[in-house]
Amino acid sequence: MKRRDFLKSLLALSIFAPVSRLLAKTVKKTASPAGKDAKVEKRTINGITVPLLGYGTMRLPRKVKGEPAIDYAKAEKLFARAMAAGVNYFDTAYFYHRGLSEKCVGDLLTRYPRESYILADKMPVRLLKTEADIERIWKEQLARCKTEYFDFYLLHALNGRSWKTAKRLKVYEFLKARQREGKIRYLGFSFHDKPEVLDEIAKSYKWDFAQIQLNYYDWTQYKSKEQYEILTKYNIPVIVMEPLRGGVLARLNDEARAIFKRADRDRSPASWAFRYVADLPNVLCILSGMTEMEHLEENIATFSTLKPLSAREKGVISGALAAYLKKGTVPCTDCRYCLPCPVGVAIPKIFAMYNGYKLSGDFARFEQQYSALPEEERAQECVSCMACVKKCPQSIAIPEEFKRIIKETAKAKKGACGNK
Ligand code: SF4
Ligand code: SF4
Repeated sequence: MKRRDFLKSLLALSIFAPVSRLLAKTVKKTASPAGKDAKVEKRTINGITVPLLGYGTMRLPRKVKGEPAIDYAKAEKLFARAMAAGVNYFDTAYFYHRGLSEKCVGDLLTRYPRESYILADKMPVRLLKTEADIERIWKEQLARCKTEYFDFYLLHALNGRSWKTAKRLKVYEFLKARQREGKIRYLGFSFHDKPEVLDEIAKSYKWDFAQIQLNYYDWTQYKSKEQYEILTKYNIPVIVMEPLRGGVLARLNDEARAIFKRADRDRSPASWAFRYVADLPNVLCILSGMTEMEHLEENIATFSTLKPLSAREKGVISGALAAYLKKGTVPCTDCRYCLPCPVGVAIPKIFAMYNGYKLSGDFARFEQQYSALPEEERAQECVSCMACVKKCPQSIAIPEEFKRIIKETAKAKKGACGNK
């Protein structure tokens, strides 16, 4: 759906129309820092019980910004606080922190009794060339995570292409055999593609759960609604990734933040986003990558005092989203799957700079940041080879976006020079 059409459809929704009237009221505060005894809510679907808030370990605290090495001292404190609050679901993957996430999770969690935490890991299907690779990686993951078994195990990032690989190499059959041996408790997959591909995967085998990207932005923009409905139709519980869209929904822009603030001055945009997802009855667990203690504390507060959204609150979210979409940002989540670019273009960095400009209107700052980029990392170097587009889970037309950004910022620069 085009942005303009989407805005029109929002306007047509009754939950959006009365926003200005609704904003005058306030709601009871719930997102203040949690007490030390606070426990997050649990949820049970199809006999599976987990905390509704799970710990995503793709963005653990780093020793040095931009480098994969993890700050263990900080991560240890975060994990201890999470465990104390009942956030004992930890989601890792072969690729996260270039393999160091699995190792860190293994090193830090083995200090707790194995049955006291829930461990999720994933088979990197796109790395597989032969059936022998499956067993090699599986054993490597058990060793890295210092465990005998995984509670949740997923085929990672399935799409039309990797699904063909998974079928050809019989990945499901290998993992099902591990499940029968008691090495996997629940078997599922994570997914990034169109709903029709999801439908095919969902009905092909018996799955215990599936992990999809879901948040109030993607509900319509990324067809998450259709994906959620397909999984519900097949009775497959949903684990949510990117509830904040890589942090975008925690930041938003001034206008959107002001809408939330007017509705409830004590609740953060992140808390609104989590509540939106938690309201969906087939959502089993919501993963959040909590890098700072204040994020974890705030999330514990949100998930230990959850209340369903009222129609009025849904209207507030729709209003904030409409205000955000007007800004024309690129929907990049900084997952970095598109890297490395063969010619060295710093793809997510450029989108972050551009989005910062669109949200703040500060063109001088954008110019300063962009001109500090080494020439070989700039958008102008893109040769449209499309290697990145094939890997982007958000289906961003990266070279096209670069052309648009170059054109738009050149125009803005001309305007800025003319104004001097
Ligand atoms: S399309 Fe451009 S940015 Fe993407 S990988 Fe190719 S050269 Fe790099
Ligand atoms: S462009 Fe796509 S793949 Fe690259 S960081 Fe952004 S969302 Fe991830």
